[in-house]
Amino acid sequence: MPWVDKLSEPQELRRCIRDLVALSTLPAIWKNYNSRQIADSAAAALLSMLNADVIYVTVPGLRDEPVAEVMRTSQAVSIASSGHIEHILRGASRGRREQISVIDNPLGNGTLRIVAAPMGFGGDAGIVAGSVNPQFPSETDRLLLGIAANHATLAIQRWHAEAEQRRLASVIERSSEFIGFADLEGTPQYVNKASWDLLGLSGTEEAQRLSIFDFMAPHERRRALHEVLPTVMGTGRWLGELHFRHFRTGEIIPFLVDWFLIDDKRTGHPTNMATVSRDLRPQKKLESDLRRLNESLEQRVTERTSELAEALERLTLEAEERARADVRAQQTQAELYHASRLSAAGQMAGALAHELNQPLTALTNLVNAGRRMMANGAPHKVDTVRDVLGEAADQALRAGEIIRRLRDFVTRGETEMRIENLPELIREATDLALVGTGPHGVQVRLRFDPRADAVLANRVQLQQVMLNLIRNAQEAMAQSEWRELEVVTARLDHKSIEVAVADRGSGLPDGIVEHLFEPFHTTKIDGMGLGLSICRSIVEAHRGELRYEPNRGGGAIFRMTLPVPLEQ
Ligand code: ADP
Repeated sequence: MPWVDKLSEPQELRRCIRDLVALSTLPAIWKNYNSRQIADSAAAALLSMLNADVIYVTVPGLRDEPVAEVMRTSQAVSIASSGHIEHILRGASRGRREQISVIDNPLGNGTLRIVAAPMGFGGDAGIVAGSVNPQFPSETDRLLLGIAANHATLAIQRWHAEAEQRRLASVIERSSEFIGFADLEGTPQYVNKASWDLLGLSGTEEAQRLSIFDFMAPHERRRALHEVLPTVMGTGRWLGELHFRHFRTGEIIPFLVDWFLIDDKRTGHPTNMATVSRDLRPQKKLESDLRRLNESLEQRVTERTSELAEALERLTLEAEERARADVRAQQTQAELYHASRLSAAGQMAGALAHELNQPLTALTNLVNAGRRMMANGAPHKVDTVRDVLGEAADQALRAGEIIRRLRDFVTRGETEMRIENLPELIREATDLALVGTGPHGVQVRLRFDPRADAVLANRVQLQQVMLNLIRNAQEAMAQSEWRELEVVTARLDHKSIEVAVADRGSGLPDGIVEHLFEPFHTTKIDGMGLGLSICRSIVEAHRGELRYEPNRGGGAIFRMTLPVPLEQ
């Protein structure tokens, strides 16, 4: 053992002891150092102890830390060359361990002597020292290098072993839950920062002077002692709600408490009890807010429902009232309609007198003529008498027909409207109007547009209109030489057709035009002035119009428009 000889030199021995003492203090300094800091500190210490030119330390990446590589050099090594040297030393750390290698001095003349001490992580981990001193390394140097490598290995291992603990501790410290543990007698040993804030404690020291039961609200202590604690001790755990007490304000705070035992892993016996407890105030507030919201919602729904029910009731009443009003309106309408029909019937009565006057006069005349013929007793006149009586019977029938129409018109109920053949309707009315006018009567011309064949009408009423217009025309032409009556139909457009009755009579006398369709405006001695007003009422009831216009070259034209039936 040659190095023992060297150590026997007192100076070297002193140096060795001094450096060993210095090395032995390092682990205490490294207590809170991470891998890199430990490697760097070891490199710095060795550089001065070994009087080396360069110390290179490499530690493999452990857990979540990266590989640490540190190099310290003496002032003799320029920064420019340090990269090159690091490369060489990195190679040396992979080479044969604890063997001295000698290479050409990359820093200048001579050689660089290199020695490496492995660290207990396996792989490349180790400390490499290099010096241009031809005496390097002495046995002391190698001893110190080995001890430093061991110390650094242990310190780094401890650092990594404590890393998980440090993480756990920081989670507990930062947690917003009340976390603490106590001995099995119930004396707190640790409470985290959140619990200081939650319960108004100044720190763990204050908690350590108390009992865990002091943390609870007075009314909870009995239960905690006699129910909860036995459960924890018996089953190892209790989870439930407990009320704590704020040490400063006295506020009672609900907590969800998880209270459990911590067992010694080796013996399996409990050593401590601990708790992770949550302040339930935010949750309770949320629940009560929600409850209040629900209640107010229910209340609002109830109110709204009853409002809606009331509104519905009001609506139902209104609907019933409206239905009753509708029925009343319908009744009124029917009454009005009937009344208007009655007043029209009143007008009609006048017209009836006018209408009946002629057939009845003719009838009277004919019967008188027949009676005179019979009185003469002339048998050869029997045929003539039969004709006269036949004519009289026709006039009586006509009078009867007029009366029947009036009855139809006045009869309450729907006025029957049908699709009628317009030329046929006009022809019948014309024939009827011209009965009894004799051979010197009026010349009638009928012109029918084939596109105006159908009309939706009450046949009797429309014939009544035609009859009236033709009668008036006849009367107006009584003094005329040229007695020509023209009835013309025409399709005006897709919606309406027109019937025009034109005569060559006297035309309308002055002052009558403005009142032509008003009742009781007449220029005739025996006239009632009702005919045209009734005509217009009838035409309007057919959704048509009745207009007058003068006939160019003398006479009058009455134009009646009627709607084209829908199915056309
Ligand atoms: P009236 O029963 O008196 O004939 P109308 O209402 O039928 O009543 O007619 C009113 C008046 O309009 C008539 O008195 C007559 O002076 C005039 N009038 C009606 N039609 C014609 C016509 N075709 N030509 C000339 N005047 C007419």
